[in-house]
Amino acid sequence: MSGTANDRRAELAVNLARVEERIARACVTAGREPKDVTLVVVTKTYPADDVRLLAELGVRQVAENRDQEAASKAAACSDLSLSWHFVGQLQTNKARSVVRYADFVHSVDRARLVTALSSAAEREGRRIGCLVQVALDRESGAAGQRGGVGPDGVGRLADAIAAAPGLWPAGVMTVAPLSGPYAGRPDAAFERLWEISTRLRADHPAANMVSAGMSADLEEAVAAGATHVRIGSAVLGVRPGLR
Ligand SMILES: *Cc1c(COP(=O)(O)O)cnc(C)c1O
Repeated sequence: MSGTANDRRAELAVNLARVEERIARACVTAGREPKDVTLVVVTKTYPADDVRLLAELGVRQVAENRDQEAASKAAACSDLSLSWHFVGQLQTNKARSVVRYADFVHSVDRARLVTALSSAAEREGRRIGCLVQVALDRESGAAGQRGGVGPDGVGRLADAIAAAPGLWPAGVMTVAPLSGPYAGRPDAAFERLWEISTRLRADHPAANMVSAGMSADLEEAVAAGATHVRIGSAVLGVRPGLR
């Protein structure tokens, strides 16, 4: 291994240990077991070599938000038996590609996407865990800024996923909103997500994933019951540009 790769490995190891420590401390505060919170490392914009180093450091779950980038990285890392999560806004014409490598899609937010993912998954002989992305800035009918369905649309979408061949309802996901009633209040947003999850699990007990929390707000997410935190920059470094 070259010196540069060794340096990068050491940097990722330190960052990973810090994030794991943050999760462990948040669990102690919340009276939860660290094993009940899964770290999903968001590797978007970083090369497949980093994914490989992360796998050597024990990471098993990785996430991406753009199909083209994800597809080539998943192919380059196909020997690592990682679990791939797709967390970005997804166009229906990308469904066929995404179901080839993703085990979970966190960003299901409309019936047409359910239909597209279902026929793609069937064709590929795969079964994909689908999380309904909840747009908390769409609470009470307001227009949201990013992807996601308003809280009152979650049940219907989960029913559609449950009825769709090749898919299963795995849970709910949110990104702390930048506008609306939850702006600047990730703790309140994640508590609301937990309520929505509780209602969903009454109808779909297997849909127990609660995907919430990023580098800046993982403590609030763990406190509110998140089962999966999606961490990018705190592990890999700050991305150049906006995504
Ligand atoms: C990029 C991204 C993350 C990770 O964000 P960081 O702030 O880098 O930890 C989490 N979730 C989604 C949907 C993302 O697009």
